[in-house]
Amino acid sequence: MSIAEIFGQNVFNDSVMRERLPKKVYAELRKTIDEGKTLDPMIAEVVANAMKDWAIERGATHYTHWFQPLTGTTAEKHDSFVSAPGPSGKTLMEFSGKELIKGEPDASSFPSGGLRATFEARGYTTWDCTSPAFLKEDATGVLLCIPTAFCSYTGEALDQKTPLLRSMEALNTQALRILRLFGNTTSKKVTPMVGPEQEYFLVDREKWLKRDDLIFTGRTLFGAVPPKAHDVEDHYFGQIRERVGGFMQELNTELWKLGVSAKTQHNEVAPAQHELAPIYAPANIAVDHNQLIMETMKKVANRRGLSCLLSEKPFAGLSGSGKHNNWSLCTDDGINMLDPGKLPHDNIQFLLVLACILKAVDIHADLLRESAADVGNEHRLGAHEAPPTIISVFLGEQLEDVVEQLISTGSATRSKVGGLLETGVSSLPALQKDATDRNRTSPFAFTGNKFEFRMVGSRDSVGEPNTVLNAIVAEAFCEAADVLEQADNFELAVHDLIKEYLTDHQRIIFNGNGYSDEWIAEAARRGLPNNKSMIDAIPALTTEKSAKLFEKFGIFTRAELASRAEVQYEAYCKAINIEALTMMDMASKQIIPAVIEYTTGLAASINEVTSACADADVSVQTELLIQVSDLLSDMKVALSKLAVAEETAAAQEGTKEKAHKYHDEVVPAMEALRRPADELERLVDRRIWPFPTYGDLVFEV
Ligand code: ADP
Ligand code: MG
Repeated sequence: MSIAEIFGQNVFNDSVMRERLPKKVYAELRKTIDEGKTLDPMIAEVVANAMKDWAIERGATHYTHWFQPLTGTTAEKHDSFVSAPGPSGKTLMEFSGKELIKGEPDASSFPSGGLRATFEARGYTTWDCTSPAFLKEDATGVLLCIPTAFCSYTGEALDQKTPLLRSMEALNTQALRILRLFGNTTSKKVTPMVGPEQEYFLVDREKWLKRDDLIFTGRTLFGAVPPKAHDVEDHYFGQIRERVGGFMQELNTELWKLGVSAKTQHNEVAPAQHELAPIYAPANIAVDHNQLIMETMKKVANRRGLSCLLSEKPFAGLSGSGKHNNWSLCTDDGINMLDPGKLPHDNIQFLLVLACILKAVDIHADLLRESAADVGNEHRLGAHEAPPTIISVFLGEQLEDVVEQLISTGSATRSKVGGLLETGVSSLPALQKDATDRNRTSPFAFTGNKFEFRMVGSRDSVGEPNTVLNAIVAEAFCEAADVLEQADNFELAVHDLIKEYLTDHQRIIFNGNGYSDEWIAEAARRGLPNNKSMIDAIPALTTEKSAKLFEKFGIFTRAELASRAEVQYEAYCKAINIEALTMMDMASKQIIPAVIEYTTGLAASINEVTSACADADVSVQTELLIQVSDLLSDMKVALSKLAVAEETAAAQEGTKEKAHKYHDEVVPAMEALRRPADELERLVDRRIWPFPTYGDLVFEV
């Protein structure tokens, strides 16, 4: 089958709705999707019926409200279409408008950060008709998935979707005000467009099954860096191996069926690391699709005897995985507000948008950094191969030059242009160069007609980063519109405002090497926040500045913000606790017994040799025996210390205080246990080592 035939075949998309819904119902539903008009329950009834028929024709037996609780993944409870049998004993397939619109999962079983006590269990899922329903096909059969938002009985958001949708509405309202100021009367809607590039690792499933750390925590907790890592640069964009190619092909087909436009695939920097990028889509759909991408990657990998690692840093010493969140603002009639055109200095609307974004990112750098905080990302950010934990903006030569002109003289009169690429070979076509080079080290880079937020971790939802981005830009647009709508002379006022914003917030612009130590010092001089750990970043959620921002646009209440902070601390504590327990388990039940077996063998062989020949030189064996035994006793000491640290942290009252205990005491104790273990891995006979090494995992896929 061709891509065109496969694409979207499992999606209840616009063309299916147009074909299956009565004209009037279709038109009403479109108004809700496109203009946010409140949905009439009668309409929902008709849509539910059409959706059910369509799903059952394709073999569906169950449906689910598919939602995104604060666990980072998705949740689903399957209900069959079966209803109580009638007098004939036959069952009717039923699915009502009410079932489409509303579900009632038990809210107390999902993270709520104290918003819900166990006895206050009621929660609701409500249909998000702006993201199309789809069919998932797997071992459980065919399942109709209805994207929904998840709220508590009292209306607080308990998921990623609700605040995201709220932020999209806020941004739409404020962005339209900006467009109107510049005389645009035709655009009806502005939508944040998002294209998240997903990085991942693939390893052999049999080997994966031999490592408890991978099974329980998603990353390796022990492991020496192999002799070859990515020093020779032969993996990035390298030829895709057959087994991986087969995986990619099946993954693409599965995603295309779900209407996910998987577009680009390539090998990444580290061995066994790869990337998939979809074509950008409206933020809420992109967030849904990204969840589907991650889920499908895992599923397809398992089917093919592989395991897909989405952890941000599965292997210490090898490159980690992120999710580059490409973001722009597009109107319903095809205008990208982040497109500077050929001559940005002449595009006043673009310059205002840019100035607003710089202001937003500078004022709320702490919130943006927090939005990318997740436990796995701790090991990636600031590790000299991923953005540092400092937020800065890369503009590139062309825009930086325009900004400099504006700051120094109040107006910009010229834009640098790209020119031609000189290859020195006459038979190669002459290429027009971009006006700006790229910068891989920036956490927030302008890339032509979009910003790329590169801090986000590979396993994390892109829901929160986009909610924050939308919110902070909505605020800056709102403040600009408040001034400009009152201005007597718009031309003058807009120039003044652009200059003011750029001057006040230029400290956020940085075009140099974000991985360097000089930048860390320079950023400190500029007063930019540098919250190294996730637990230092979390308080940004509950500052007065943050509460004012989110309340103003109805995105989060103070209670919701406090609950999100609590959920983050909890997630940190739980993850580190599982990691610590897993390490102790592997050390005491696997590594230490293996090393003892090795030393026993070594000692026996020394005895054997000396009893056969008293003069034989056994200095090598003896030296090795001493070295290994020393490391073994270091391990034993570190193991006891880790056990104490873990117990103390687990007993600590207060989630925030507990998180700090884990961070300050358990994490260093884990590192101390790992050090001798990794050294032992280098010394001990590999036939005895109890689990596959990094080399086995990443080079033998
Ligand atoms: P690059 O190589 O510059 O990162 P790509 O064209 O490969 O650019 O795009 C990377 C990701 O950015 C893709 O997911 C793509 O769909 C997305 N993208 C491209 N243009 C936009 C845009 N205007 N808004 C949001 N995302 C975009
Ligand atoms: Mg990119």
